[in-house]
Amino acid sequence: MRILFATSEATPFAKTGGLADVSASLPRVLGEQGHDICVFMPLYKSVFNSGLPLRNMGFDLSIPIRNKTVFGTVWEGRIPGSPNVPFYFVQQDDYFDRDGIYSQHGTDYEDNCERFVFFCRSVMESIERLWLDIDILHSNDWQTGLLPAYLRLMYGSRPRFQRVASVHTIHNLAYQGVFWHWDMKLTGIGWEHFRYDELEFYGKLNFLKAGLTFCDAITTVSPRYAVEIQTEGFGCGMNDVLAYRCDRLFGILNGISKEWNPSTDNNLAVTYSSEDVFEKKPVCKQALQAEMNLPQRRDLPLIGIVGRLAFQKGIDLVCDVIPTWVENHNVQFVILGTGDTALETRLSELAAKYPKNVAVRSEFCDPIAHRIEAGADLFLMPSRYEPCGLNQMYSQIYGTLPIVHDTGGLADTVTDEETGFSFNNDNIDELNKTIWRALDKFWHQPARFQEMIQQAMKLDWSWQRSAEQYASVYDKVKRK
Ligand code: ADP
Repeated sequence: MRILFATSEATPFAKTGGLADVSASLPRVLGEQGHDICVFMPLYKSVFNSGLPLRNMGFDLSIPIRNKTVFGTVWEGRIPGSPNVPFYFVQQDDYFDRDGIYSQHGTDYEDNCERFVFFCRSVMESIERLWLDIDILHSNDWQTGLLPAYLRLMYGSRPRFQRVASVHTIHNLAYQGVFWHWDMKLTGIGWEHFRYDELEFYGKLNFLKAGLTFCDAITTVSPRYAVEIQTEGFGCGMNDVLAYRCDRLFGILNGISKEWNPSTDNNLAVTYSSEDVFEKKPVCKQALQAEMNLPQRRDLPLIGIVGRLAFQKGIDLVCDVIPTWVENHNVQFVILGTGDTALETRLSELAAKYPKNVAVRSEFCDPIAHRIEAGADLFLMPSRYEPCGLNQMYSQIYGTLPIVHDTGGLADTVTDEETGFSFNNDNIDELNKTIWRALDKFWHQPARFQEMIQQAMKLDWSWQRSAEQYASVYDKVKRK
């Protein structure tokens, strides 16, 4: 199969969430499984700064945007660990040579619509300019949602595109790329497609909807989320579109990348496997407590949290319950995350009030994330919704039992009282009860707690399995 994978972020260059991890891992594994795959992403400042050797592909792009022409070029590079997958970077410095990816200082760039119109048109033009023969055009999230629409409405009749099918993946339905209707003019797509069953959404232009209505198959990142997003509660206004296309909607769980392995992880004080986890994990716990200036006590339960500080992630619930567990049970919390400033402030206040129990790091730091996964006894993810979630899987592999809300990918990966703990309703009572169940095991049933750790560490969250499922979706839609 020949696949073009278009994305707005990929580790290690640009990352705001799970999409970046998927964009680095899935193409690599599909390549290893014998597929011919290339990746397109914007040439952000961070790509330049990474020092990655790049080769200019030797042609200029001239993209019509409203009544002007915007020029760009394409560079090729190979990312570390994926030597067989060409990464094509679209360069347009006015749009992409910036400090942020989509926003700066918490404010979205005003020209995000124009930036990603340009990127999508550049991908389509580059297919011709690079003579790429592809079977599948795989787009992701709103930023590349216009690709299936361009394929069907503007490029489909050209020889190079006639046999191309498209797959669109939803990594998070809450972000849809909604712009005012006059931005239709930027897309180059005619007003006749500004209709409720194509690009229009409550009077506005919606990039994600374009992807969902024009692609040949939709995937999302867990089977449970695929069902949930067809309902009003989780559908973010797109539930009817998704229910209408349910015969073409597939849930495929993300895998986790090779860097997340406690036996080879050089971010840790000591590495360990399921064989020596009970001797070595306490060393990681002590090192984490030291790093976070918390009392180095093995007997105190330590709960870790890593992630975006957002309402989605239930961080407000975490803030609500911390005082109870600190004041009554001397539990320690280590929290790493950035995001909502109100939540950051609440967390810093808790850290200031309970310096011996609560440590907060408001930064994006991958090595610390690894050390929390290894050093904590339990990992908390009370997300209100969670398309897939990666941290609960990292936790399991690191022998750190996750406490999760039973939703989306969390429901698909955590079996209550077997490989973690889960609760049904996202409210404080349920959360407290579940933390209590977990701590009860930690304090009073250590043998069972250890058995659960062993079970969690044996789970297989490799990308191989997920990549095979993507390949079978490609096969379903491929033009025969
Ligand atoms: P989402 O995509 O909704 O943000 P995921 O769990 O799918 O959530 O992916 C988040 C990824 O980002 C994980 O790899 C997680 O470890 C990482 N991450 C989030 N916040 C931070 C942070 N502050 N420092 C380091 N890694 C982080």
